[in-house]
Amino acid sequence: MSDLYRYFRQQKEQYGDSLYVDENVLHHAALAAQGLTEIAGTVTEAWKASSTLEDLNGRIHDCQKCPLGATRNQFVFGIGNPQADIVLVGEAPGAEEDKKGEPFVGRAGQLLNKILEAVDFKREDVFICNILKCRPPNNRDPLSTEVEQCEPYLHKQLELLQPKVMLALGRIAAQTLLRTNDSLTKLRADVHTYQGIPLVVTYHPAALLRNPNWKRPTWEDVQKFRALYDDIIAKERA
Ligand code: SF4
Repeated sequence: MSDLYRYFRQQKEQYGDSLYVDENVLHHAALAAQGLTEIAGTVTEAWKASSTLEDLNGRIHDCQKCPLGATRNQFVFGIGNPQADIVLVGEAPGAEEDKKGEPFVGRAGQLLNKILEAVDFKREDVFICNILKCRPPNNRDPLSTEVEQCEPYLHKQLELLQPKVMLALGRIAAQTLLRTNDSLTKLRADVHTYQGIPLVVTYHPAALLRNPNWKRPTWEDVQKFRALYDDIIAKERA
């Protein structure tokens, strides 16, 4: 019970008399109270009531819903403008992101910034996140069970952001979001829809660092992405 006590004390320090309890904590509290190791049924998912990104982050940053919670160094919620029209999504944090608690940092992050600037977007104008909020060990691909647990957080982020367009970064992110095994080449050829939001697919910046030949097709993808965004804005203003 000492972990629970510590958790409740941290919540009180952070939120005062308003208590936000994670589903997982309720689950463990119920187990501890009954001296059980397993319990059936569902418990309230308080984070679903979050009204801002900051609020959501505060409610889920201690998440332990899947085993990655135990191996992460830092929970990586995502970063950017809370009013962003544009959301960029990768598959999961890597080693540097896990260390810093921020997605797309290091060389890949710098390249992503350049890619955005090439089509007159700035990093601070968009919102950048991953499907999984914790790093899979050795950067392995996300497991379907981890995606099942974590993707609802992405859905909530999108509900709060209400972006006009999304860009999936890399094959794994695109295949995971779109529930397909289609090749990256095939996925890049179309504009898709995710949670009702138009979605374009391109290479992961880390892949471009390994293979500079992919810079040209990435440039074409982001130009298509920019044109799609401009078209949506123009139609809204018409
Ligand atoms: S990966 Fe997602 S579901 Fe798993 S512990 Fe981290 S935040 Fe929770």
